[in-house]
Amino acid sequence: MAGLEFKHMYKVYSGGVRAVNDFNLEIKDKSFVVLVGPSGCGKSTTLRMVAGLESITSGQLYIDDVLVNDVESKNRDIAMVFQSYALYPHMTVYQNMGFGLKLRHVKPDVIKEKVLAAAEILEISDLLDRKPKELSGGQRQRVALGRAIVREPNVFLLDEPLSNLDAKLRVQMRTEITKLHEKLQTTFIYVTHDQTEAMTMGDVIVVMNKGFIQQADAPVTLFEDPANLFVATFLGSPQMNIIKSSLKVDGKKIGVVLEDVENNVVWLREETVKQLVNSEIDLNKKYLFGIRPDHISIADKGIPAHVEVVEQLGDETIVYAKIEGHDKNIVIKAPLLNNIKSQDDIFLNFSNERVYLFDEVTEHSLIGMPSFSKLPCEVNRNGEIKLGKETIKVDEEYLSHIMDFAYEGSNFLAIKPEHVLLEEQAGSVPLKVKVDFIEERTAYNIVYAVVEGISQYLIFRASKERKIKKNDNLTVYLPLDNMLIFDNRDNNLFVREVVYPNKAIAKVTTLKNGKKEVNISRGEKLVYDNLPYEDGEYQFVLKQDKAEVVFDKKTAKGIIDKDVITSAPKGQFLSVSCYDEEPQKDINYIYAQIKGFDEYVTLVAKNNFSVYKMPKFKIVVPVDGFELLPLGKLNNK
Ligand code: ADP
Ligand code: MG
Repeated sequence: MAGLEFKHMYKVYSGGVRAVNDFNLEIKDKSFVVLVGPSGCGKSTTLRMVAGLESITSGQLYIDDVLVNDVESKNRDIAMVFQSYALYPHMTVYQNMGFGLKLRHVKPDVIKEKVLAAAEILEISDLLDRKPKELSGGQRQRVALGRAIVREPNVFLLDEPLSNLDAKLRVQMRTEITKLHEKLQTTFIYVTHDQTEAMTMGDVIVVMNKGFIQQADAPVTLFEDPANLFVATFLGSPQMNIIKSSLKVDGKKIGVVLEDVENNVVWLREETVKQLVNSEIDLNKKYLFGIRPDHISIADKGIPAHVEVVEQLGDETIVYAKIEGHDKNIVIKAPLLNNIKSQDDIFLNFSNERVYLFDEVTEHSLIGMPSFSKLPCEVNRNGEIKLGKETIKVDEEYLSHIMDFAYEGSNFLAIKPEHVLLEEQAGSVPLKVKVDFIEERTAYNIVYAVVEGISQYLIFRASKERKIKKNDNLTVYLPLDNMLIFDNRDNNLFVREVVYPNKAIAKVTTLKNGKKEVNISRGEKLVYDNLPYEDGEYQFVLKQDKAEVVFDKKTAKGIIDKDVITSAPKGQFLSVSCYDEEPQKDINYIYAQIKGFDEYVTLVAKNNFSVYKMPKFKIVVPVDGFELLPLGKLNNK
């Protein structure tokens, strides 16, 4: 039994493939978590890092609160089951199951006890004397599971264990594995590329694409409130219909105008319109409108469509129909219909009860439950975050994780709906809100609340038992750890490492040729034509966002695009030696060590630069890339 925690985990393979990026996840003890996504999205790599079969490039993995990055695979108390069962062909089922224990010098009578118990659970007690070739596929997979069970691991890792089985057996084994999880009361992490398998098996589903977690939540939540187009279309069968659209305003009403379709406006519900406040809606922009097949019905009037295929599935009918200007068939899921056939001309009615809208560029969902509520805010160095008429007070610790430029101008306080608390907790700060409206979901309600002076909503989940109503005045609590500061391009300015003040001691001397030299104590020298400082000793403060990363031709060869700077201006660079990184939307934070600076230096690089690609590099320090402060001011930031 064990809980796991992944913190900012990355895997970059030696060839430079970024297989897993910034993987953050908490897995509760005894839960059944499914990693799902298309082939190549990083599922197996993640699982292999948990098993200790693959090193972790950056970030931390905790099993039961113990950091295991450097713990050997055999000491992690984990068992893994693969797609290919890899049974020893010359051994019996009994020997196959007991072999791992035998290698560990477990006494034969203990082995016997464990193998018999596992065989009982898996209902293969009568097969123990058989060889693998005398077993069916399903039976072999059971033996492979048995081999894992006898080890009594704290965590079970299963990597596409059913993909070698035929469809019918796969469905049956799904139930078996779910039952096994209940019996063993152990944490399971299960990998599959099959969305139906994921939806039917997991307590929590982690949807991955291109090495990034897209969304992690309960199956019903992913289905009802997908964070983006990928999750919306990956889960659910038949798939969500997606139609290119624009928006139209009529007084307070907003309608979705389906491109090239006659009679084509779907007017949104009042509450749906309100939700659009949190996204900047642009009437000149195109959006992707989404509607699930069971929210379209066949009616007497509406959007004209031409039926291509009808599938009768016993208790329901799936209709595939064409609408004007839209290549892909619209899929309609209806109760049993006997009067519709291929080639019929029909009318479709799009219900506005549950509709989706995605940004065409970012593909983020714009209605329903967002990944983050983003409220305009201003942060100051006294630890105040101003949100409309309210102020949140943060501590020194919080401020020490904020980039310097977060204090400039307006940014956004960003918080995930699931992180907003209704009860005070250590490390959280209060905020007064008023409930505007509520949307009901299967697992909870979504509350849209107003902070006085701000038009965007603070959106959060509340259990149905809480009975929160429209117009309630509430105090919510925001955990500081999860309260992020975004700039207007969604770069997070609240970073995971402590941001030290980038300080060193430096001496300024005028050289014979009139130039000024800045000699960093125990470090390198910089030379400038003009420098508005007198000779003497100073506190040198390197600005976070002014230094530019450069590469010399030799080290950059084959790793970095040719069109970037390849040489640093003489006397105006510093060498960087020790580092980690935290990529954002269009910038990358680099934690570096530079000679003469006591602590880590935090710098901003362009997002096309990864320290994992680049073993060593230099930074150019322009004349406005630093400040010199009197030595007396040593500890004031
Ligand atoms: P999945 O299990 O989701 O199909 P993987 O974790 O196997 O995906 O692979 C993720 C990415 O990492 C892919 O682009 C794959 O080609 C790459 N990859 C996997 N293993 C290695 C390896 N040993 N060396 C280099 N690249 C790898
Ligand atoms: Mg795989």
